[in-house]
Amino acid sequence: MERLQKVIAQAGVASRRKAETYITAGRVKVNGKKVTELGYKVNPEKDRVEVDDVPLYKEEPVYYLLYKPTGVVSTSNDEKGRKIVTDFIESKQRIYPIGRLDYDTSGVLLLTNDGDFANVLMHPRYKVEKEYIAKVEGIPDRRELKKLEDGILLEDGKTAPAKVKIMSADRKKNTAIVRLIIHEGKNHQVRRMLEKLGHPVMKLKRERYGFLTLGQLQPGGHRVLKPFEVKQLK
Ligand code: URA
Repeated sequence: MERLQKVIAQAGVASRRKAETYITAGRVKVNGKKVTELGYKVNPEKDRVEVDDVPLYKEEPVYYLLYKPTGVVSTSNDEKGRKIVTDFIESKQRIYPIGRLDYDTSGVLLLTNDGDFANVLMHPRYKVEKEYIAKVEGIPDRRELKKLEDGILLEDGKTAPAKVKIMSADRKKNTAIVRLIIHEGKNHQVRRMLEKLGHPVMKLKRERYGFLTLGQLQPGGHRVLKPFEVKQLK
């Protein structure tokens, strides 16, 4: 760990003395948060330091596909001390997930340090297909499937038409396995859509994000995206 003013000076942005005035003037951010304390310690390899919103170094962009297990939070930190998705990937860069999967949802999750890439993929106009497999209570009937296909009215608006298929049904246990393809990313969208129809989700897995699937990965496993995959997503 190094003192902030030293890191700024070593990047060639300003003398150490000048860097100190930048810090006290509130012109310096560490990982997006303004820091005005002179002795503040940073990790020059991992922390993102900006002066007047310009990063000291251009980071090498990295892209990962993680098979998120259940019981893990999709953020880069958790106040409650629960396991977080970045625990599964050792990266020199400070990475974060593109969108979220619920704590109890497993499946494909992309992580990157490339903010522009993340913003593009998360923009509603950019319709990335996401394919989910859900175990639900009860067995949705034809009329209910049609509702999913037409769009369901949730508190935050109507969902776009989904593609949906019943994969199997267990009449004894009164449960079904449903495949659902959507391209929006409202909070808890799949759970809320199915709940609204009276079929609460018992288990949920995202099997596909765009053209990316889990392949041979096991829960908790990850791989680096190939350059052509990154290019194709953009
Ligand atoms: N929809 C949900 O309800 N949960 C997820 O984790 C992803 C999509």
